[in-house]
Amino acid sequence: MRPLRHTVPLGVGETPASFASRTAALNGLPAREFCLDFRTTFQKVVDGDPVAIAVVAAKGGVPAASLAEHAFIRGEKHRYVHRGEELIRGGLRRQAIAVCPHCLAEDIATSQSRPSLAPFGRAIWQIAAIKTCAVHGIALSIAVRDRTPSKLHDFAHHVAGVVPDLDRLVAVAVERPVSGLEAYVTGRLNADAGPQLLDQLPLYVAIGACELFGAVATLGRTPDLKRLTDEQWHAAGGAGFEIFASGEAGVADFLEGLRKSYPYSGAATEGAQAIFGRIYQALEYGPEDPGYDGVRDLVGDFIRTRFPVGPGDVVFGKPVERRILHSVRTLSAETGLHPKRLRKLLRVAGRLPADADGLADGNCLFDAERGSQDAREAAPATLSVRKAGEYLNAPRVQRDMLYRTGLIVPPRSFRHRMRSLSRTPRQDRRKCTSGERASCRQVRYSDNPVSGPIGPRYTPAPVAAGSPPDHF
Ligand SMILES: [Zn+2]
Repeated sequence: MRPLRHTVPLGVGETPASFASRTAALNGLPAREFCLDFRTTFQKVVDGDPVAIAVVAAKGGVPAASLAEHAFIRGEKHRYVHRGEELIRGGLRRQAIAVCPHCLAEDIATSQSRPSLAPFGRAIWQIAAIKTCAVHGIALSIAVRDRTPSKLHDFAHHVAGVVPDLDRLVAVAVERPVSGLEAYVTGRLNADAGPQLLDQLPLYVAIGACELFGAVATLGRTPDLKRLTDEQWHAAGGAGFEIFASGEAGVADFLEGLRKSYPYSGAATEGAQAIFGRIYQALEYGPEDPGYDGVRDLVGDFIRTRFPVGPGDVVFGKPVERRILHSVRTLSAETGLHPKRLRKLLRVAGRLPADADGLADGNCLFDAERGSQDAREAAPATLSVRKAGEYLNAPRVQRDMLYRTGLIVPPRSFRHRMRSLSRTPRQDRRKCTSGERASCRQVRYSDNPVSGPIGPRYTPAPVAAGSPPDHF
């Protein structure tokens, strides 16, 4: 197949569609008619069909491999492969044509072609996440929004309408540095290595994850993602890239920040959806795309290890197999023990975090296995003073007398810690040793003086007079 007499030079990074469109315009035809003349279709060129690209390359006098280099090859379900990377239609500009006015002006200044045919469409401008020209450091302009199907992707047709307005577009161009995400996407398309965490995700997922996390980082937990401006997406992409560039630890730090800064209700009953907002919703309720499984695993692992979830809970479609953390709330629900009593038991056992007093029941977390064991051991063997009175069938006055005379006593571990705490200077206080704890578990309360022993015999030590505590 011989080349046409009139051809245009292939631009650096130019799409096959742009090249076909300019060649057609030079020969006086719209791109679609031009392609039909050579028994192919413009849509096939747009979709990266190798046969159609070979035809256009032959007529345009350029190597087919060079023309195919910046094609967007359409696959199944609105997916595309571009320079070996996976993209989706939602991440590409179709009706909108974004240009850098400075690049267009330079194309015209350095070309022998007519001003309307010199500018060429860079493939990188078709990727929606790219919003800044890396060459000139200015925001790309959306030059055209045209939904006319017969004109879609016909770059030369559209840019011919932009050229007369080019001086104004150059004058109003907004200077802006390239964001981390934009630099990453550009580099990845040139086979540069980036942060490992992002490189192991499909490119469209890496972009989507950065923008999603970044939108929450810059705009709060529940931004209206359908109404974000280009400027806001640009900032979001940059912020999200910084999070992912720090690897799994960076993502965990960010999620931990959201967890800690959440304005919890009194009981802290809120779960991951409230705390992570759009991040959780997009991963849980968004399209079922296995490409996002890597991101779901990242957030899911955080939830499984930092939230009080256990068997019966489902995180992003995966049942939780093993409980790692309990909260006072979840263990109370599981054991039926009153949260206040549970807190005291766990505090005595040294299970609670240092800031437990300032944490709501749902947020007061501890090792699930050890906490459950403490609760199991304590539950059958200890009663509140009030319950002990009921158990002994003793009216309140007699019950208090029994307490003051030491016949109803707190568990030894509790008294042991309280006594040692009161005697020891604060800086010297320590937790009980495992041996001490083991011995404390032997005896929980005194004999029942009315109906016989109900536990191992224990001779109570004198207890200070006064009102008994409500719970042990
Ligand atoms: Zn530029």
